[in-house]
Amino acid sequence: MLAASGYDVAIVGASIAGSAAAIFFARQGARVALIERDSDPAAYKKVCTHFIQSSATPTIQRLGLAGPIEAAGGVRNEVELHTRWGKIVAPSQQVIARPAFGYSIRREKLDPMLRQMAAATPGVDFMPGFSAHELLTSKGRIRGVTVYGAGGAQRQIPARLVVGADGRHSRIASLAGIVAREKPTGRIGYFAYYRDLPLQSGDRSQMWFLEPDIAYAFPNDDGMTLVAAMPSHDKVAEWKADPETAMNRLYEAIPDAPRLASGRLVSPFFGTIDYPNLIREPVRPGLALIGDAALCIDYLWGVGCGWAFQSAEWLADAVDESCKGADEARLDKALAAYAQRRKSELAGHEFLISDYATGRDFNFIERLMFSAAALDPACADNLSAFGQRCITANAFIGPKNLARAAWVKARHAIGSPAQNRLQ
Ligand SMILES: Cc1cc2nc3c(=O)[nH]c(=O)nc-3n(C[C@H](O)[C@H](O)[C@H](O)COP(=O)(O)OP(=O)(O)OC[C@H]3O[C@@H](n4cnc5c(N)ncnc54)[C@H](O)[C@@H]3O)c2cc1C
Repeated sequence: MLAASGYDVAIVGASIAGSAAAIFFARQGARVALIERDSDPAAYKKVCTHFIQSSATPTIQRLGLAGPIEAAGGVRNEVELHTRWGKIVAPSQQVIARPAFGYSIRREKLDPMLRQMAAATPGVDFMPGFSAHELLTSKGRIRGVTVYGAGGAQRQIPARLVVGADGRHSRIASLAGIVAREKPTGRIGYFAYYRDLPLQSGDRSQMWFLEPDIAYAFPNDDGMTLVAAMPSHDKVAEWKADPETAMNRLYEAIPDAPRLASGRLVSPFFGTIDYPNLIREPVRPGLALIGDAALCIDYLWGVGCGWAFQSAEWLADAVDESCKGADEARLDKALAAYAQRRKSELAGHEFLISDYATGRDFNFIERLMFSAAALDPACADNLSAFGQRCITANAFIGPKNLARAAWVKARHAIGSPAQNRLQ
């Protein structure tokens, strides 16, 4: 039901970012329209490997979603990295404070659960089956959206703040004239689900840096293991022709990887061939972008879901009461604060992820940090906190951490020089 004077917030897209934002805003007392083009309550994002980094765990807990995720069989995740320097695992004694785990849960469970939670939150008007087509604008600001439902039914949704949570190809961003900055990727990606596929690591996820190719295996709910590969782009013909054979061949060549024939393939193979990083300015007067709409980046590092949760929280925290009054300057100041927070939290990560996404070799700093992490628990702690996106890129390569890594390498080189060059 449309509120008489419109809504405080109109959110377009009811996947991770949009549903989380709707819950946070409504709990703050805002009147929220949550608009989702898909009318199916069971709709979910199919192409996602859904390893949610632990940086998002506090947000998930604050939403009240951790319990339902666990009740649905979601796995508390952590990952071991296999590199040419050896295995890297977060030490049991972690000096860098952070959540102990993230979550792995299939989107077919997560998305409907979260959307349902948003729809049931007092203050949220959930509008499934409505697609946002136009923005309402006047005097240089965005003031709502026009949506179309089944049979062409059209509605205008006036709102003080419009939130684009409509994913990678954000229509809201295009309508607002926000053009994505594009950075190329040099890898393709394929994944599929297997049942009864034991990993040497037990419940812990595994990731292999095969330089330049990547492989990973993520245990999930219902005894499912997601098996994935991100080979360099020059292998596209082989993978496109027969992803199952290509996946088997790749995994057979990795000594500590599972033998895929020992499990049961229970899904088709999903793939992406061309998936450039897309980076957008996140705010305009009366508008904010969250989740993939603002930043959609190489999924190799499993950051998109976590950042969808977190950007929703950052936006709602920054805006708070300012979406309710008529004070537009106050709202714009809050939007600027959101943009600033995103930048300080994510810009360094975005730069490093985009750069590695080209398919290049490890650079000098990465070789130093990964090789030291294979030798030293403190360096492993730092790398793992960074990989879980719980510290900024600047903190990861801060002078103390670089010095520690260099010292570890030097000390090790004295003991066993032949093994320890920064190759
Ligand atoms: C192959 C692959 C693997 C990935 N693996 C991981 C991983 O392991 N870990 C991780 O954290 N991330 C991963 N990601 C990224 C993750 O899937 C996304 O970052 C995440 O889904 C972003 O959530 P979102 O809510 O911003 O957008 P989306 O999930 O894309 O949702 C957008 C929503 O908006 C709706 N919508 C769109 N347009 C309109 C409109 N005009 N009107 C109304 N509604 C609209 C859509 O129907 C949808 O519900 C992966 C991505 C890919 C491609």
